[in-house]
Amino acid sequence: MSEQHDAASHETPEQEPDFARPGERTAAPRRTIPEHESLAETAYQIVHDEAMLDGNARMNLATFVGTWMDEQAQRIYADAFDKNMIDKDEYPRTAAIEEHCWRMLADLWHAPDPSKAIGTSTVGSSEACMLAGLAFKRRWQHARRAGGHDTDRPNLVMSSAVQVCWEKFCNYFDVEARFVPISEAHKTLDGHDLEHRIDERTIGVVAIMGVTYTGMYEPVAKIAAALDAIQAKTGLDVPLHVDGASGAMVAPFLQPDLEWDFRLDRVHSINTSGHKYGLTYPGLGWAVWRDASLLPEDLVFQVSYLGGRMPTFALNFSRPGAQVLLQYYTFLRLGRDGYRTVQQTCQDVAVHLAKGIAAIGAFELWNDGTDIPVFAWRLKPGHTSNWNLYHLQERLRTKGWLVPAYPMPDALTDLTVQRIVVRNGLSMDLAGELLDDIRTETAYLDGLEAPMPAEGLHSGFHH
Ligand SMILES: *Cc1c(COP(=O)(O)O)cnc(C)c1O
Repeated sequence: MSEQHDAASHETPEQEPDFARPGERTAAPRRTIPEHESLAETAYQIVHDEAMLDGNARMNLATFVGTWMDEQAQRIYADAFDKNMIDKDEYPRTAAIEEHCWRMLADLWHAPDPSKAIGTSTVGSSEACMLAGLAFKRRWQHARRAGGHDTDRPNLVMSSAVQVCWEKFCNYFDVEARFVPISEAHKTLDGHDLEHRIDERTIGVVAIMGVTYTGMYEPVAKIAAALDAIQAKTGLDVPLHVDGASGAMVAPFLQPDLEWDFRLDRVHSINTSGHKYGLTYPGLGWAVWRDASLLPEDLVFQVSYLGGRMPTFALNFSRPGAQVLLQYYTFLRLGRDGYRTVQQTCQDVAVHLAKGIAAIGAFELWNDGTDIPVFAWRLKPGHTSNWNLYHLQERLRTKGWLVPAYPMPDALTDLTVQRIVVRNGLSMDLAGELLDDIRTETAYLDGLEAPMPAEGLHSGFHH
């Protein structure tokens, strides 16, 4: 088309004003795929605008999952979004980088001989936990059969405050979930009362480094010691898995002397979310076993790789490979010093916020952010009957902050808490703004002369 033609009289859809084109003057279809094509710009605008209503990811203090990466990472992501992780043959270097990463993690978590460790990337900790649970179940089945016993009714022992992925594992793979309820006296699984829950059908115990509800570490060494005592008494050798979705990428940097990892013989496997404190964008988890012998071979499938075969253990087949490259980038970019600095900065912000919230007077801290940079608080008993933490959640939401309130798990469901997850990107400066808003909204609620309506309140929490 000639450059000099009269645009007004020969208007093409591209030249029509934005938001006034065909398809942009009317509501987009929601239930059926439209009959005809749209301009790419039109389809883009509609999708972009609807997603815009989601709110600001960096003000979402409910999630543990990364919402910020630097520009080089964005370039790697853009270069690699077409790579499929399962195509080990087509993308052998991406496959090799995956192995560099889990070997680095085996080393970070003190595998006694990292060359004997085995690991894999996953879409997140949920998949990694399923794999670890399956390895426990299969090992137990093999041992039971070898001993001439049945393999009915396996069980897994864990805190009532586990992340929902463990309930899914037990549901999907027919394992009885045995929960040890948390309480004011035992805020986490700590080995207390474990002997009454463990029997010859226990496939393993899960310990959590960074409980989702509160951010607290479970004392893995104490749990391991309790299992040692049980073994001495009953002969039952029950393995431990550490769900380090968040904490396995915090403790090595902030609490290097804390023994929670492969330094404890009983720990068979560890998972983490690359996309939480591993500091990548969503879509990445890791599972590592201290020794390849702990992962039953009959769970492993072979895919073709450089004309040979490569072992894989995964629930999915195709999945993005870019996140694995992002993880390797982050390891190289930050190094141990960089991770320490980032996590320490998050912790400083968390501790500052926790102190500021405690100083308001209306609240009582459940914990203070000194494990992972996450903490929760409750309303002081007797402080008010005019409002609760769900009202504060709503007031903060009007300012753009997502600070979820929710009930604690079994045995403490009457207790409502509110939680902040500090991630890379919640700067001290932004945290100051948040604290001001919490103070202002608490003062507003405390100034009410009658109760807030309670209808329609709900938890914004999906653990
Ligand atoms: C987030 C989390 C999970 C699930 O991890 P995803 O990466 O979101 O699948 C499992 N366990 C704990 C303790 C978590 O915090």
